[in-house]
Amino acid sequence: MDVLERKYARQREEMVRRQIAGRGITDPRVLKVMGEVPRHLFVSEALMDRAYGDFPLPIGERQTISQPFIVSEMTQALALSKEDRVLELGTGSGYQAAVLSRLVYRVYTIERIHTLYMRARKVFDALRYFNIVPRFSDGTTGWPEEAPFDAIIVTAGAPEIPTHLTDQLADGGRLVMPVGGADTQDLLRITRVGDELVHENMGKCRFVPLIGEYGWKE
Ligand code: SAH
Repeated sequence: MDVLERKYARQREEMVRRQIAGRGITDPRVLKVMGEVPRHLFVSEALMDRAYGDFPLPIGERQTISQPFIVSEMTQALALSKEDRVLELGTGSGYQAAVLSRLVYRVYTIERIHTLYMRARKVFDALRYFNIVPRFSDGTTGWPEEAPFDAIIVTAGAPEIPTHLTDQLADGGRLVMPVGGADTQDLLRITRVGDELVHENMGKCRFVPLIGEYGWKE
């Protein structure tokens, strides 16, 4: 490891200790991957020194990479196991997909902004995270060809839960997504139990809008 990588590894350790374990995330697998995935590679060079800070950062196109804590909280809430196939809407920087990919069999991730899609693909390749399958499209209709999914995560806020997504959840599958107004939302976890959908509210959050056919209109 060179000097710079050692510096970022130390910042990562500190981030996990203070912001993640320190705020109640307990799943050891989540703590481990948050300490491993190089978050600084998912932001522009100018922001790398702030990549492990306790805040979201801009990634261009008026979008953001979520705060480390929220990434770990949503990941823990998905209750993932090694064989799971996961769908993510809102690739953005690719960081959340990268974290998920270290915990599951395969991650399918959809982004509607082409420049972000292309940039994330490059980072996945550079890191050799080959179990991430990126796609450029409106994700609000899900990915029917690959459904059902064991877990679905939406990293943009929607006015309501798109029914395509709950339809694409496997029995026992978990969907974690922000739902509510354009400014603040409730972070919801929906679990499919047979034909039933069990709702849990994890509290308030702030995400950029999910834009598309079954999201906000542009
Ligand atoms: N998970 C990302 C966070 C990205 S912010 C990360 O770790 O960096 C949310 C992203 O959702 C933005 O890039 C935005 O363009 C994307 N998005 C919004 N509506 C979408 C839709 N309908 N389909 C796919 N992506 C969408």
